Amino acid sequence: MVKELVENSIDAGATSISIVIKEGGKSFIQISDNGSGMSDEDAVLSFGRHATSKIRSYEDLESIRTLGFRGEALASIAAVAHVDLKTRRRDEEVGALVRMEGGTLKEHSKTSAQPGTMITVRNLFYNTPARRNFLKSNNTEFKHIYDVVQRVALSRPDIAIQFISDEENLLDLKGGGIQERLKNLYGERHFETLIPIGEETDLLSISGFIGKPDFARKSKVDQYLFLNKRPIFSRAINHAIFSGYEHLMDKGNFPFYLVFLDIDPHKVDVNVHPSKMEVKFADEQSIYRFVISVVRKALGANDLVPSLEVNSSKNFDQSFASLRHAALPHHFSAGFNNVPSGPFLASTEGPAGHPLNLDKLFSDIPTVPLPENGKPQQFAHGTRENEAQEGKAIWQLHNKYILSQIRTGLMIVDQHVAHERVLYERALASFKNAVPVSQQLLFPHTAQLSSGDFALAKELIPHLQAIGFELKLFGKNTIVLEGVPTDVKAGSEGSILQDILDEFKNNQHRVKLDARDNVAKSFSCKAAIKAGDKLTEVEMRVLIDQLFATSMPYVCPHGRPVVVKISLGELDRRFMRTS
Ligand code: ADP
Ligand code: MG
Repeated sequence: MVKELVENSIDAGATSISIVIKEGGKSFIQISDNGSGMSDEDAVLSFGRHATSKIRSYEDLESIRTLGFRGEALASIAAVAHVDLKTRRRDEEVGALVRMEGGTLKEHSKTSAQPGTMITVRNLFYNTPARRNFLKSNNTEFKHIYDVVQRVALSRPDIAIQFISDEENLLDLKGGGIQERLKNLYGERHFETLIPIGEETDLLSISGFIGKPDFARKSKVDQYLFLNKRPIFSRAINHAIFSGYEHLMDKGNFPFYLVFLDIDPHKVDVNVHPSKMEVKFADEQSIYRFVISVVRKALGANDLVPSLEVNSSKNFDQSFASLRHAALPHHFSAGFNNVPSGPFLASTEGPAGHPLNLDKLFSDIPTVPLPENGKPQQFAHGTRENEAQEGKAIWQLHNKYILSQIRTGLMIVDQHVAHERVLYERALASFKNAVPVSQQLLFPHTAQLSSGDFALAKELIPHLQAIGFELKLFGKNTIVLEGVPTDVKAGSEGSILQDILDEFKNNQHRVKLDARDNVAKSFSCKAAIKAGDKLTEVEMRVLIDQLFATSMPYVCPHGRPVVVKISLGELDRRFMRTS
């Protein structure tokens, strides 16, 4: 009910909405807005079944921009509660008062009123005790309402929102930008854990914020998706966002997201079921890939997945520009349950309408690897990325970074994290394939551990074995290492186990990982070449090749960037070169 009433206020163009409830809304809900208001006559009409002012023509149905359009809310509410409606249009002197009780008109008079509309709902379900019994506790109903208010507040930061529950002023939000709104709702500290996203094309645009991986939550509470400002739910988009975090987010964690999709309903086939909030896109695959790449790009721009090209969105825009005048299918299939279907709403192909291939459009974005069917796509040997530097000079800088020329400019690779990424994926693969590649030690190494570490090692034996360790427990706190994964550097066999255990404990404090993933991360971190290790040219080339054969070459298992690229354009700008 609160959702419907607040949405009416939004549809009425309100810039300020106040929501007052008592006892979880059971005894009292009052929504006031400074929107358009209604004429005296409309005030009464608004309670009629299927009375809506929001659809004037068939055209309107094809491009619904308002939140409501079925004309059911006020009628339904008036049927089961005591409802007062006070409303005044800005250009009228006096307002109208309409009082409804159990669906019948009890009073209709003139009244003094502020411009806008105020609806007061008392004694919900007073005449249907069975339904009243279905209401949850005050506290639970309050939480649902709070959730609705919060969603609205996030979807429309431009609207001032006040929320009072049982006389307590819970929210008093000024209208403004989304950043201010987020700070007000979540606090400054939380805001700092968010990364802005954004991409605009002729067909759709996406904007909003996603949470940094480290600040993921254990439940899906803070996930907000809006389509044309309407709160929606879409399994596909949800999955796409999550996939964008690949390897940055541990299982069972959920990223914060606040994502606004804006799509011209004339141009993209969207199927909305208004009451369920569930949305189906005709070309779900492409939207899916679009969302993934936007998320990756954003993580990249924040050095989580390094930005590949400073102006990578350019090609993207161009590919859309060429389509600006292309024929678009004039087709919006509306799955609204109480809108007549049949010939009236039969989908109409546009005059020149060949279906638009979104897939092709989006195929230009990926300077970032895109998954096929949600699975990470392998960079085959010799793809665009490493092909570019084949045969080109390659340098090692301060025994730390590998520099190389690529098609678009300069690529810098952090050798340690690059190797870490390679080893990490190798470890994950050996968990899967269960054929560890290990290297027998000529002289088994005996490791003395603290009793805590010994217990931990004992616990981790199956995982350690899976990645190629061969070890035996030997009396009190002693482990004998008979083989190590082939990737372990000669000379570090003696310390590698202790290093892994230490790193494992470290990771455990920071983030909750499952043990296997933690073993993989700890191993890859400790076995990888370090900053300071001198590499030969061949070693560098092999490393780069291996890196680009991983599913996520741009980010190390801990979320640090592996590759930074500087485009020629960026260099030109820095040198103030105009051409
Ligand atoms: P719908 O929103 O689907 O049109 P409702 O039953 O929610 O149907 O509202 C019926 C009509 O009452 C709306 O179409 C609108 O004209 C009018 N109305 C409802 N609430 C407001 C409001 N807060 N301000 C102005 N007009 C309103
Ligand atoms: Mg409505």
